[in-house]
Amino acid sequence: FPVENIRNFSIVAHVDHGKSTLADRLLELTGTIDKTKNNKQVLDKLQVERERGITVKAQTASLFYNCEGKQYLLNLIDTPGHVDFSYEVSRSLSACQGVLLVVDANEGIQAQTVANFFLAFEAQLSVIPVINKIDLKNADPERVENQIEKVFDIPSDECIKISAKLGTNVESVLQAIIERIPPPKVHRKNPLRALVFDSTFDQYRGVIANVALFDGVVSKGDKIVSAHTQKTYEVNEVGVLNPNEQPTHKLYAGQVGYLIAGMKDVTEAQIGDTLCLHKQPVEPLPGFKSAKPMVFAGMYPLDQSEYNNLKSAIEKLTLNDSSVTVHRDSSLALGAGWRLGFLGLLHMEVFNQRLEQEYNASVILTTPTVPYKAVLSSSKLIKARRAVQKNMIFIDQNRVMLKYLFPLNEIVVDFYDSLKSLSSGYASFDYEDAGYQTAELVKMDILLNGNTVEELVTVVHNVKAYRKNVLAKCYGGDITRKMKLLKRQAEGKKKLRKIGNVEVPKDAFIKVLKTQ
Ligand code: GDP
Ligand code: MG
Repeated sequence: FPVENIRNFSIVAHVDHGKSTLADRLLELTGTIDKTKNNKQVLDKLQVERERGITVKAQTASLFYNCEGKQYLLNLIDTPGHVDFSYEVSRSLSACQGVLLVVDANEGIQAQTVANFFLAFEAQLSVIPVINKIDLKNADPERVENQIEKVFDIPSDECIKISAKLGTNVESVLQAIIERIPPPKVHRKNPLRALVFDSTFDQYRGVIANVALFDGVVSKGDKIVSAHTQKTYEVNEVGVLNPNEQPTHKLYAGQVGYLIAGMKDVTEAQIGDTLCLHKQPVEPLPGFKSAKPMVFAGMYPLDQSEYNNLKSAIEKLTLNDSSVTVHRDSSLALGAGWRLGFLGLLHMEVFNQRLEQEYNASVILTTPTVPYKAVLSSSKLIKARRAVQKNMIFIDQNRVMLKYLFPLNEIVVDFYDSLKSLSSGYASFDYEDAGYQTAELVKMDILLNGNTVEELVTVVHNVKAYRKNVLAKCYGGDITRKMKLLKRQAEGKKKLRKIGNVEVPKDAFIKVLKTQ
């Protein structure tokens, strides 16, 4: 494939604006999948994605498209929309030259529309605005066009109005991809330089790395080196994602595909790594900014005999989701386990669900907390306000964008739900880290016969907030399910944990964690 006939693009949007549905239509129009009535979000392959109806993992598909007698190779990356997964989006963009910015014709610009636009803009990608769902009764594509012009400074006549559901005008999206997105700037004559932008672990084949080739060519049998580990491997298989893996003889610069090279350990082929030929070492590509976890929780096996299985499950899953941080931890009550960092609560729930569904693991998660830096002194007397308004921009007559500085603890748990119900679902929300701020906080220990119980320690900004019981509903459902599992497992077994000199049944802890 000549480089000038390759386009690498991503679909980005606020959650539910129709990215995955548009991806279905693009796959059908290019003959990648058969056109049937049953194609619903086909790139959402994970069970958790199908159950929740949301994308949590970026997915790649290579499409072939004929236009004016030329054949084009279009590499599509569908991305998640929820704020917790924006790390997936920014990684995907590193393999692209352009994005389709999908906006719902009824809802207009929302918080993640703005966040995703700026990710693409900062990466200097071409942005094609696509106004979707024009079939809806309340659709107002002209209003959305004006919003796009006002907020993003993109002329309104560049917007493409479609219905991804009905397939209306989707062909012109393909046209625009070819006309407006530049081919990748790559050099096939240079030595191989491939960026690992995602990877998964397959029980039989080991690590499957998703790669974007910036320079050179790679074929089966080549000896390659990982810039990260400096280990050498022989390539067993290369291919394209169509959207399922389809082996090819070679992958050329400009292409996006997968590579299997006998990496058996999950610490190999890290996301962000550069692969090059053994004989021709190159300067590694800039990797990725590591994700910054916002929410921390303890994770323990339901039964200590499951420790090693759970350890290997967590390692494999974090290979596929490198934004999770893992540190060993142990607890008097729950035994040996880990302290995990997540990008948000939904991310935590999804990770937990994937562990259960894809690795058959049963775990106990402790109440999530946000990070604090404690200064051990009592002379801070400034009364911190809990939120400070930073600015306000009117997107149009009906919609305003407000920026606030919030303590993270106020927004991670139920802020999003409260905002949605207060605004009858109209408001949307995105956040980024603004650094640590000083505040008057108290670490609240819970003592059992004079001994601190680490699992129950919380940081509170006043007593009232604690009484509001804000943490109660965050994952009650999950715990109930786990308690059932626990009950089953505990039958016939006596589960007593010793805290200092008091013996406490393990499920008493689970109950306390649930009602905290
Ligand atoms: P994503 O979260 O951006 O990937 O959005 P999805 O593709 O999962 O779509 C969210 C919902 O919007 C689904 O129920 C789709 O059926 C629906 N949807 C997507 N495109 C259209 C459209 O053009 N018209 C209508 N009426 N509904 C659509
Ligand atoms: Mg989706």
